Amino acid sequence: MKIKFWGVRGSVPWATPAAIGHGCNTPCIEVSDERTGSTLVLDAGSGIVGLGAALGGEPRELPILLTHYHWDHIQGLPFLAQIYQPGWTPRIFAPMFESHDPAWVETIFRAPFFPVPVEHLPNRPRVDVIGPGATRIGGFDVTALELNHPGGALAYRVRGLTGDLVYATDHEFGDPSRDEPLADFARGASAMILDAHFTPEEIGAHTGWGHSDWRTCAEFAAKHDIGGLWLFHHKPGRTDEELVSIAYDARRIFPATEAAGEREALRL
Ligand SMILES: [Zn+2]
Ligand SMILES: [Zn+2]
Repeated sequence: MKIKFWGVRGSVPWATPAAIGHGCNTPCIEVSDERTGSTLVLDAGSGIVGLGAALGGEPRELPILLTHYHWDHIQGLPFLAQIYQPGWTPRIFAPMFESHDPAWVETIFRAPFFPVPVEHLPNRPRVDVIGPGATRIGGFDVTALELNHPGGALAYRVRGLTGDLVYATDHEFGDPSRDEPLADFARGASAMILDAHFTPEEIGAHTGWGHSDWRTCAEFAAKHDIGGLWLFHHKPGRTDEELVSIAYDARRIFPATEAAGEREALRL
């Protein structure tokens, strides 16, 4: 299983020269199984535009698994090339929350937000709702768990041949009723991607925003038998220099830590 980052920022794709090294697109991760040629896309932030442009091979089904519906996780979807290229079948798997609006996909393509209504899209994506628990998506074994985030968000554990990936972005640590199940869910994973939007200095003023800081992420990874930690959902505008320094400091707590950067890939 190969995992490639196409968008690693939270909130908004605010591109600045000082931050372009790690990239400025919002969340999107490509998971591919090199044995079968299957691809699973995690989130549809602005990073999905680059993924779509780079995706080769025969047109096929393209499963896109969303963590939740905040703008930064869906804003790239209308600009995904495979919605317009003949033969592709984009398919969305999205969580069912109390706040869920089943018409969300129609809404984001509707005027005045977008010029092409969903019923006129060449490859209108089918949407399936999913909930916590185990499922199989596009040839991948996936388990989902609810996170602590305003309006809800799901974490995903994707089984790989030699180890599992846990993608847990948009989570605020501090509520044991969410953190303890997350620890059980993530334990033993080869790679974990965690929400490190804030620094330990910033987090106090942002309680309830639904995000975490890099120190808490590193402590979590150190405590729960995680193979490698990728700090993710970087605050927009956080410079490359700052992210290098954050990763350096986090390694004192958990040595196998990286600050996720666009186009970087790992293999499990
Ligand atoms: Zn987010
Ligand atoms: Zn969010």
